[in-house]
Amino acid sequence: MQFGPWDVQIVSGGTFRLDGGAMFGTVPKVVWQKLYPADEDNQILMATNCLLIRGEVDGKRHVILVDNGNGDKESDDFMARFKFEGRGILDANLARQDVKPEDITLCILTHLHFDHAGGSTRLDGTGRAVPSFPNARYVVQARDLADAKRPHLRVKASYLSWNWEALEAAGLLDTVEGSAELLPGISVRPAPGHIAGLQNIVVQGGGRKLVYLADLIPTARHIQPAWCMGYDLDVITCVAEREKVLAEVAGTPTLCVFEHDPEIPCGTVSRDAKGKYAVVPVPL
Ligand SMILES: [Zn+2]
Repeated sequence: MQFGPWDVQIVSGGTFRLDGGAMFGTVPKVVWQKLYPADEDNQILMATNCLLIRGEVDGKRHVILVDNGNGDKESDDFMARFKFEGRGILDANLARQDVKPEDITLCILTHLHFDHAGGSTRLDGTGRAVPSFPNARYVVQARDLADAKRPHLRVKASYLSWNWEALEAAGLLDTVEGSAELLPGISVRPAPGHIAGLQNIVVQGGGRKLVYLADLIPTARHIQPAWCMGYDLDVITCVAEREKVLAEVAGTPTLCVFEHDPEIPCGTVSRDAKGKYAVVPVPL
């Protein structure tokens, strides 16, 4: 879909599975399993819906990737535990859009958890992690990079340093503090709660607006503001941030992208008289 100069589409970095109970926090299983069926291990299917944004501004061509999935570096054991779809999925899906890793000019990372930034680096022939997109600048919130380097015990398992150390070493990793317009019509803004340094991406142009919600509202099935994940570190802040974004988008044509939803990657949000939210799927 076109947003002014920007052509925006979803590109999958591959699916994986997480425990349904962890994904739905205090929501009882009898409630969430009707919306989101679990497998024999109580795991539910998770997408990594990345955004591919292409356009030309002031005579310069930009090829932007928002998040990059789990990547291909993890061990077979790790991949089996989370039932990764496989290796090479993002590259293959980019190639289908005629995009090579060298073509990417900017990688916007919502945060550095492995299911969002794992594709940032890849292993070279010697088993060393190197930038996957050698011609790209990578951007993350300064707060998240700081937290990734000294992670709280509770989220330590999600921050794997080989996903960003090679970016820093190559001088490709930039940080922003708070809201920032990275390119005309493409902005980042903090969305704390899941973790302190999470950021959302907003794309605006040609009368259209899109919000990439990342782990603030990971799937369309998490659209009720109090339905937080067990993974969310600060639930009170998470609910407040969700209410803020839902007040902004509900009843408007603004498109919301749900990064982890394999069935409803994108949609508009409505709110009924009782205050209950619903997502109307829209193909991007
Ligand atoms: Zn996630």
